[in-house]
Amino acid sequence: MIEVRASSWGRLFDCAYAWEGEHLLNLKRPSGIRASLGTAVHASTAVFDQSRIDGTGITASDAADVFVATLHNPGGDVDYKQDRSITMREAEQIGLTLHAKYCAEISPQFEFVAVEMKMEPVDIDCGDGITLRLKGTMDRARVARGGAGGVIIPDIKTGSRLIDADGNVLIKGRSPQLGAYAIMFEQNTRTPTEGSQIIALQTTASARTGVSKTFDAKRPMLGTSYEDGLIAHAVQFLKSGMFPPNPSSPLCDPRFCGRWDSCIYRDA
Ligand code: SF4
Repeated sequence: MIEVRASSWGRLFDCAYAWEGEHLLNLKRPSGIRASLGTAVHASTAVFDQSRIDGTGITASDAADVFVATLHNPGGDVDYKQDRSITMREAEQIGLTLHAKYCAEISPQFEFVAVEMKMEPVDIDCGDGITLRLKGTMDRARVARGGAGGVIIPDIKTGSRLIDADGNVLIKGRSPQLGAYAIMFEQNTRTPTEGSQIIALQTTASARTGVSKTFDAKRPMLGTSYEDGLIAHAVQFLKSGMFPPNPSSPLCDPRFCGRWDSCIYRDA
């Protein structure tokens, strides 16, 4: 049984060797301030959105307290000197701006039906005694009503390069994670999904926000009648034990790769 968390699928197809190090060999790096900022914005906006569903009346200002508390205590190891491009004070300012913009401008665009939805794992029999278990709590995803009776899965992303110069939210490389969410959601609820969407909260001084177009994240995962999907490729990694390295990955950096110290494939 090999468990693959939905949030780790992107890394599996970015540098499978790094994914093996982090998820099968437990070679992890402490996260940095920007990751704590992302964790805190997810937490505060989730409280706000859950209140919209429940009608409990938590205001954006109330939920901002959750942001501050989580930023200063995000859970897990944090290396505060890892990323010198941002201080905790700057992270707090950027995060509060993103939180306020999200609550005022983005959340009202959606009719959410679930936040931080917990789901039963989905097992895929790969043959030869190997089972791939799709897991995930959709801790970063929300579920909103679509127009044709199904739902869409909008996933909040935080990071420094999410929106291009023309204001378009970038969806490149997002299908593995969102496709895994869609597959699990459909298996768990027997409700069809109509697509996936990225809500971008950019953790730079400009604190830009945006919403992507809706896209089909399931097809790259499942494939078509004539081409294998990413799940079939992942099965080959798992069955063979060959996890290809990718020294060209933008995450091939000591700040982001737990296998950096021992990896012979990196250039530096
Ligand atoms: S150092 Fe680079 S190539 Fe090596 S595992 Fe990490 S990301 Fe992959």
